[in-house]
Amino acid sequence: MFTRRNFLKTSALAVAATAVANPVKLFAQVGKAKGGSKKLELTFQPFEAKYKYAFNISNFSRTSTPGVLTKITYDGYTGYGEASMPPYLGENTDSALAFLRRIDLGRFKSPFEIEDIMVYLEGLSTNNTAAKASVDIALHDLVGKIMGQPWWRIWGFNPDTVPNTCMTIGLDTEEVVRQKTLEAAHFNVLKVKLGMDEANDKMMINTIRSISNTPIFVDANQGWREKHYALEMIHWLKERGIVMIEQPMPKLWLDEAAWVTERSPLPVIADESCQRLTDVSKLKGAFHGINIKLMKCTGLREAREMISLAQALRMRLMVGCMSETSCGISAAAQLTPKMEWADLDGNMLIANDAFKGMKFTDGIIKLSDKPGIGAEPV
Ligand code: MG
Repeated sequence: MFTRRNFLKTSALAVAATAVANPVKLFAQVGKAKGGSKKLELTFQPFEAKYKYAFNISNFSRTSTPGVLTKITYDGYTGYGEASMPPYLGENTDSALAFLRRIDLGRFKSPFEIEDIMVYLEGLSTNNTAAKASVDIALHDLVGKIMGQPWWRIWGFNPDTVPNTCMTIGLDTEEVVRQKTLEAAHFNVLKVKLGMDEANDKMMINTIRSISNTPIFVDANQGWREKHYALEMIHWLKERGIVMIEQPMPKLWLDEAAWVTERSPLPVIADESCQRLTDVSKLKGAFHGINIKLMKCTGLREAREMISLAQALRMRLMVGCMSETSCGISAAAQLTPKMEWADLDGNMLIANDAFKGMKFTDGIIKLSDKPGIGAEPV
């Protein structure tokens, strides 16, 4: 359980994390360098994202997420990428580094060969989705910088159609939930992690509703283990101004999900059930929509394809994130014009952001004109 004492302990830990020296300084290279070679060069280093507060969801609690930062240089330009690896993805720092060491970009002539490069990465391993995303993001950053344009513009997306991002409130004690709700008072939408037990779930919503009328996304993170109960909870939540529900039941329960979705008064969105492009069509009917995350789907190239497929199947779209720096978040933000809902608060929840990119004051996403993914090392 999450006691006040534990919470204070992790808060103290967060303060210590901010004092850690910036590990990315030597990694940084801003703008076009003179005399760069027309050879693709990939470098990378581990990076641990430390949380400002311990992060609690229905099955565990953590204070940091392991990751890797990548850099690809070509012709004097530098593109940056990031892998963030929460345990449920099945990757860790060692497996990501081992995968990245196997990559030989020297066999490709330019970063514009993203399509072939991503097919090549797929051939190296069936997993390692976050490590692949770190290369995909760096390549998109590089290509966007060479073209002098951000990706939302290269894709032809309308920057005026972006949703607001929510601010997440994790499973916690009544006192902490109240404090976090007050801190998030300026956000237009909140996201609440439920799925522990009925008493705790209702306490969280009742606590927030006692001080705030802000619309709420609910994420049960697979925590509800019975379809009738899930539907009952959704009806209870609908009466309390909840906007939509993410992943109410275990990821493989597609028949049960379809039963709930058919009867649900709120949109039901797949997160853990939807990892990659190949999952999307299987989820039609089981969910109203999907939550796309770069770390699950190997990056921007596949995310763009998932958007097209989901739209063709008339499924609704959300973009989410892991605990990422402003590198990964700025990359994901490029997709937001096509999204109905956005959950891109990852960089606001970490204490040691290694990048300067898109920051969403009060949750309002404003896409930047900066080329590539729009982020640079701090
Ligand atoms: Mg989720």
